[in-house]
Amino acid sequence: MIDCEGCGACCRYTSEMAVHPDDAFLDNHRDLTYWVADPNSRAGKGYHMLKQAPDDGATGWVCSAQSDDGWSCTVNDTKPRKCQTFEVGGAQCLEFREWQGVGS
Ligand code: SF4
Ligand code: SF4
Repeated sequence: MIDCEGCGACCRYTSEMAVHPDDAFLDNHRDLTYWVADPNSRAGKGYHMLKQAPDDGATGWVCSAQSDDGWSCTVNDTKPRKCQTFEVGGAQCLEFREWQGVGS
């Protein structure tokens, strides 16, 4: 059975993950994001992207909300909507686990 405990593989593939502007995550954890202006917008629009921290895993980067040991989410109860709806055991989850060398 697929278990997130001790995995965190998907959290190492968030370098281009934007947080939806309506996501409550921004109310609680805006400091875990950085702003990227949309070059096509003249109205100052852009994206809140999840911050990354260096990591010694396969990608070299991990979401900055990961715990220091890199295997659990420190904001699990209030994580971004995309993280909440990410399908555990889905095709992308399995792909990330394989790339990260996490056993099933
Ligand atoms: S890759 Fe899958 S099993 Fe691992 S933390 Fe993400 S959702 Fe959970
Ligand atoms: S917010 Fe939590 S679940 Fe989402 S990518 Fe970051 S560490 Fe992973």
